[in-house]
Amino acid sequence: VPLLTFKVIDKVYQNGTVALQGVNLIVQPGEFISLVGPSGCGKSTVLRLVAGLGTPTGGLMNWHGPNNQRNLAFVFQDPALMPWANVVENVYLPLKLKGQPLRSVRERIQAAINTVDLCGCEKSYPRQLSGGMKMRVSIARALVTTPQILLMDEPFGALDEMTRSRLNSDLLHLWEKKHWTVLFVTHNIYEAVYLSTRVIVMAAHPGRVVANIPIEAAYPRT
Ligand code: ADP
Ligand code: ADP
Repeated sequence: VPLLTFKVIDKVYQNGTVALQGVNLIVQPGEFISLVGPSGCGKSTVLRLVAGLGTPTGGLMNWHGPNNQRNLAFVFQDPALMPWANVVENVYLPLKLKGQPLRSVRERIQAAINTVDLCGCEKSYPRQLSGGMKMRVSIARALVTTPQILLMDEPFGALDEMTRSRLNSDLLHLWEKKHWTVLFVTHNIYEAVYLSTRVIVMAAHPGRVVANIPIEAAYPRT
C-alpha cells in the first residue's frame, strides 16, 4: 500500500500563479524520492501540500497512513535552531510541543543525537557548532518524532561541498539501515542520483512532472 498518492493535483495560489498542474505521484514506504527542476517548478509546493500546509485546488491527495493521520517531519536549508538552547533542548522541542516530559523521552533524544553522529555535543549551543553540525541537529530534531515521511527542502544547499558530500554519504547509509521514506528537494542532480531510489524531474510554467526515473543503485549502496 502506498503511503501517499497525488492524483492529477493542481495548485493555483490566490494570486493566480499555477504552481502545479496535473501532478501524479505515488510514494511507497521506504522510497527515497528526489524532486529536481528549475526554481519555480513547484517542488516546495509539493512538499507543502504533503505536509498539509495549504490544500490542492484540484485533484485528489490521499494519505494512507494509520487513521489518515499525517506523521511527518520537515528539514529546511536553514536549520532554525533555538540559539539559547543546547543540542538536547533543540532536539527535544517537537516532543516538548506534544507535551512529553523530558525525563520520559531522554533515551529517544539521545538515540536521535547518536544517529546523526553528534554524540558528545549534547550540551553545545548552536553558536559553537559548524554549519554541518547544525544541520545534523536539525535532522535529529526531525527524527526524534519517528515520522512516517521525512520532507527535506534543499537541506544541504547552504553548505560547502565537503560538508555536503559528507552529509550525503551519511544520509544514504542511514536510509539504508532505517528504511525511512524521504521526499527530498534539490537543485543538485548528482545529489539526487546518488541518494534516491527515484528521481522526479519537474518543469515550470506551469509546474508539472516531466520525468519519473527509477534509480537502481547508481552507486554502490553499502
Ligand atoms: P494558499 O492558497 O496555500 O493559502 P496563499 O496564496 O494564501 O496560499 O499565499 C500564502 C502566503 O504566501 C501569502 O501570505 C502570500 O503573500 C505569500 N506569497 C505570495 N506570493 C508568493 C511567492 N511567489 N512565493 C512565496 N510566497 C508567496
Ligand atoms: P520551487 O520550490 O520549485 O522553486 P515553488 O513551489 O516554491 O517552486 O513555487 C512554484 C510557483 O508558485 C512559483 O511561481 C512561485 O513563485 C509560486 N508560489 C509559491 N508559493 C506561493 C504563494 N504562497 N503564493 C503565490 N505564489 C506562490
